[in-house]
Amino acid sequence: MEITEKSTDTHEVVLIGRDDAIGYHGIVAIHSTALGPAVGGTRFWNYDSEDEALTDALRLSQGMTYKSALAGLPLGGGKSIIIGNHAARNRNALLRAHGRFVDTLQGRYITAEDVGTSPADMEIVRLETKYVAGLIGRSGDPSPFTAAGVFRAIQASNYFLWRTLELSGLTVAIQGCGNVGYCLAKELHAVGVKLIVADVNSENLSRVVDEFGAEAVAPNEIFSVKADVFSPCALGGVLNDETIPQLKVRIVAGSANNQLLEERHGTMLRDRSILYAPDYVANVGGVLNGCTELLGWTSEQAAAKILAIYDTLLRIFKIAEKEGITPNEAADRLAEERLRG
Ligand code: NAD
Repeated sequence: MEITEKSTDTHEVVLIGRDDAIGYHGIVAIHSTALGPAVGGTRFWNYDSEDEALTDALRLSQGMTYKSALAGLPLGGGKSIIIGNHAARNRNALLRAHGRFVDTLQGRYITAEDVGTSPADMEIVRLETKYVAGLIGRSGDPSPFTAAGVFRAIQASNYFLWRTLELSGLTVAIQGCGNVGYCLAKELHAVGVKLIVADVNSENLSRVVDEFGAEAVAPNEIFSVKADVFSPCALGGVLNDETIPQLKVRIVAGSANNQLLEERHGTMLRDRSILYAPDYVANVGGVLNGCTELLGWTSEQAAAKILAIYDTLLRIFKIAEKEGITPNEAADRLAEERLRG
């Protein structure tokens, strides 16, 4: 494996790994280890260019630092990427190469699953490194826990706007019915929420339509449906100049990382009286569950922390209201205070 370092002013270290013999091309970005080892999943995605993948790795790893800091965890932020088609024929060889790459950091970075990878894939990565979490039979798939956290974020947003914990009768529009979107749809359906859903993958889409009676719309229509909550559970950057004017909701709360294309889009949401639950606050449930494996927590401790996402968000909404700033700015302030110690 040939490893080269990219110069950076914002991150501790950014590495590019290549093993041309098997077509492996990967990135490890460590944003900060100030509070502990950098933790963040492996994204396996067919980016158009290395630059595009790098931009994602830089933003995602910084998001992980803020996520862990705000949750009060002794962990830092990192992210890694395997650039390529995640249905590649030599997938196992690519995952093993990635494991060797991660291993060179000797625990400064700990990986787990993310978009395009699964707990089973992490078992393959583990053949090459011990610095991997989210393993089968240990903390496992984080998605149900992430979904449980997003559910709490929707409850907190609902309470902040309408002073009720009752979700029954609300309509939630979910973009992306994959691992998290499916689990979230299940929880919301169980409490009487009406669902409108979109996915580019027809199998994932029909599962929530068939199981939870959700109404399906085309991927580009999900932004403009009339609903109470928009829940982005697909990819990042979906809150932007084009989509925000289309929204007909009062709340945005979902699992996707980096939902705001730019910080100013948080202001744009506020100007439209849409309450935004900052992504890294709402989607920390999977990391909290991972602490059973990383920090030796009991599952009860993790569950209590996931429930507490509700209190954290209410605190953020109140600070934002009092200070006249957006919830994403309020969350960043709290995280930065923790990072400064
Ligand atoms: P996933 O890959 O299982 O699901 C994503 C779904 O979104 C897929 O069904 C995909 O077809 C769909 N999708 C992609 N582009 C779309 C589009 N333009 N319109 C509609 N649907 C589209 O991923 P996941 O694990 O469910 O994660 C979802 C998001 O939440 C990701 O952004 C991920 O980074 C984030 N997240 C996940 C976890 C976790 O525990 N899995 C934790 C924190 C954050």
